[in-house]
Amino acid sequence: MSLYNYETPTPNPWPDAVRIKNNAQVAWRVLGWQTESDEDTVWTGIEERTGRLVCRMVGDDFDYLVDPDDIETLDREEYCGECGQIGCGVV
Ligand SMILES: [Zn+2]
Repeated sequence: MSLYNYETPTPNPWPDAVRIKNNAQVAWRVLGWQTESDEDTVWTGIEERTGRLVCRMVGDDFDYLVDPDDIETLDREEYCGECGQIGCGVV
C-alpha cells in the first residue's frame, strides 16, 4: 500500500534503485507515475498522471513524490540493500 495512487508502466522503466537529488544519502525505488482522480474519474474510473513519480525509500515504507528530472539511477554496489543508505558497508 502506498499513500499515493500510481501506475507502473510495463515493462518497468525503473528496474534499478535511484538517488534523489538533494537527498544523496538514501536509495529509493520508483513505484510508478502518481495518478489522481479528476472530475471525470467518477464516470470513467481513469485517473490522470500528475507528472510526478512515487518513490519509496529502500528498507522502509516511506513514500515521496519526486520530479522525474530529480532522479538518477544507482548501481547495485552503491547502496545498502538492508538500510538503503548510500555508502553503507553492508551490501
Ligand atoms: Zn546498511
